[in-house]
Amino acid sequence: MSSEIPALNPEVTEIPADKLLGFQASIQGIDDLVYLTFGEPGFDTPEAVKQATIKGIEDNHSHYGDSQGTPALRQAVLDYMKDRYNLDYASINQVIVTSGVTEAIFAIFKTLLSTGDGILIPDPAFGSYFSSIAMAGGEAISVDTSKTGFKLTPELVATSIKNATVPVKAVLFNYPSNPTGVTYTRKELEALAQAFEKAGIWVISDEIYSELTYGQNHVSIGEFLPERAIVVNGLSKSHAMTGYRVGFVLAPEDVAAQIQKVHATLVYAIPTFVYDGALAALQMPKEALKPMIDTYQKRRDMAVQVLRHLGFDVLSPDGAFYIFAKLPADIEEDGWTFAEKLAKDGKVGVIPGEAFSQFDGAKNYLRLSYAGDTDQLKEGLKRIQAYIEKRRAN
Ligand code: PLP
Repeated sequence: MSSEIPALNPEVTEIPADKLLGFQASIQGIDDLVYLTFGEPGFDTPEAVKQATIKGIEDNHSHYGDSQGTPALRQAVLDYMKDRYNLDYASINQVIVTSGVTEAIFAIFKTLLSTGDGILIPDPAFGSYFSSIAMAGGEAISVDTSKTGFKLTPELVATSIKNATVPVKAVLFNYPSNPTGVTYTRKELEALAQAFEKAGIWVISDEIYSELTYGQNHVSIGEFLPERAIVVNGLSKSHAMTGYRVGFVLAPEDVAAQIQKVHATLVYAIPTFVYDGALAALQMPKEALKPMIDTYQKRRDMAVQVLRHLGFDVLSPDGAFYIFAKLPADIEEDGWTFAEKLAKDGKVGVIPGEAFSQFDGAKNYLRLSYAGDTDQLKEGLKRIQAYIEKRRAN
């Protein structure tokens, strides 16, 4: 008689599937769909990056590399952060090169959170934070930002900590934001920095969209809180390198040493020849990225204009490549229902706002991505217009 196969770890099996990925999968089979769903840049990786990576392979950079990232690459990260965001980190020991921001975030959670520790997450938010917190043993505390223009405020920080039922160790915020596209001004960040300081919590700042701002320069919270902030960034979005898997963590040296232990355990190191491509990316002149950013800005302007014309209430997205739009008042449906019908009958894929939220405030919202392709965006907007006009005519 054979014995039973042991059960899998419930701490993993009981984590709900990411709602965003679930919805994307549910519309995948629909014929002739225009996808305005993915946060995937529709640009090729810059030639200089490709060539440096190919050369890395030819030079046999194919063995175990420096786990934390080569010293030259970590120095390039420091130079880039100083040049772009005026961040003054003294030592390359404060930098860890990770397998994308995804790994960085998990390694940080694992380092900071003991079982049951709380972490504030301004909601709506990028969904994979929640599974990452759960796997690290922490408790996500969602903070409803739907009444403050989808921004965290010092008041929200104070009340969320006061009402928390578990000890709050950290806050994770992301700006420019996925899914809303909102970002923060220097003044707002200064006020938040004070609130975080007063609350005595760690600050994890996911700044992966920092290069994609329109009309204002990105300010990093690391500038105000060098001892408390753990800044995360990467090349996926800014340099159209999602498949290369390059993220960076910048942290106080003693904290970085602990995060590095988790990183070494999880992946050891990212592919050695990718270090060469990443170095080339960081050394590209800022102007080289401008055509891509200008294109995103044009797409944003076009999408905002069409959606507002149709009666959507659209936040002005100052960064990233998403639009968070509230359904027109005459459409009395929630975002899930509308998005499903739009996919089936209008042949456009968008994401319901609730896929990013625990609260009713996002219920009537949709997230549209303009990352992909200008012609597809035009076609998608045309179809949304036709679909809504047809509904209104009936
Ligand atoms: N953080 C945010 C806010 C994102 O929107 C995404 C991807 O969509 C990621 C992190 C993932 O980044 P990476 O490709 O570096 O793992």
